Amino acid sequence: VAKDAGKRTYRVFSPEMDNKVAEYIWLDVNLRKALEADGQLKLYYQPKLCVKTGEVHSVEALLRWDSPDRGRIPPLDFISYAEESGFIVPLGRWVMREAAKQAAAWKAQKLDIRIAINLSARQLTSSTLIQDFSDVIRQSGQSQCLLDIELTESCLIDDEISAHAIIRQFRELGAKVQLDDFGTGYSSLSQLARLPLDVIKLDQSFISSIDQNATSQTLVRAMIAVAKQLNLEVVAEGVEAEGEAEFLKDAGVDYFQGYLYGRPMPVKEFEEWLNNKGKRLRLVA
Ligand code: C2E
Ligand code: MG
Ligand code: MG
Ligand code: MG
Repeated sequence: VAKDAGKRTYRVFSPEMDNKVAEYIWLDVNLRKALEADGQLKLYYQPKLCVKTGEVHSVEALLRWDSPDRGRIPPLDFISYAEESGFIVPLGRWVMREAAKQAAAWKAQKLDIRIAINLSARQLTSSTLIQDFSDVIRQSGQSQCLLDIELTESCLIDDEISAHAIIRQFRELGAKVQLDDFGTGYSSLSQLARLPLDVIKLDQSFISSIDQNATSQTLVRAMIAVAKQLNLEVVAEGVEAEGEAEFLKDAGVDYFQGYLYGRPMPVKEFEEWLNNKGKRLRLVA
């Protein structure tokens, strides 16, 4: 940064920058350790419910890190570092493997649950991404791919053509490709229309209090209309209140995900949830 300011000027690191550097170094050392150690990293699973039937056929895998020094560290506090450093690539490989193992374990218990994993932009630039994914699928010993992919718009804008090819390859391997946080990025409708997607996930910022917000209602109705024209399924994420769910059901959303139904949970807790609450869920009338 100081170099950018020109050769004859120099800048003293501000305390704020110092903190950033120190944090980067801490993450660099400790995230590496966490990946090697057992049990520091785990996947939590959040159900997605079919609006028509109330059934749970899929979950989203969300990364959690329990650091021995700092306790629980949420993904937003380390994913961007991992993207910058490139560590997201081995980390993402771990997520894939872990999710594939879990999906196979559920299959062995006669539970048909697909698991969606999140990929960030940096992972899409990894030349081994598709190979890694197909290795994981093959090694899982399943005849069918049980993993789906969630991508954000930021994955698509840098290089539309290669994003297109990557999405196609994921689909050929049997994964459904979902566009995450839809409506918050900068991809255009024409771009969206060209991409071979399966699902869009409406960002939770539109869902929050949608039953009381006319602007959000208009936006969400328009997004759903576009999605239907393109034959895409629609997930609403961040559903927290009955009133929101009622509006979204009427508007034609296909799947609900949110605290109203289930938070992201560790495996055992999710299985209990599925056996109890998950079975008796009454969605909106
Ligand atoms: P995301 O993929 O959009 O995931 C949804 C986030 O919304 C999750 O936050 C989830 O816990 C939260 N959420 C779900 N339902 C509700 C609700 O009803 N209300 C509210 N307020 N929040 C809700 P989380 O787990 O903190 O993850 C944050 C982000 O970190 C994710 O956003 C995703 O972009 C990223 N992330 C998480 N795990 C991974 C991973 O394995 N790989 C990559 N590359 N990114 C990940
Ligand atoms: Mg997601
Ligand atoms: Mg999202
Ligand atoms: Mg998000």
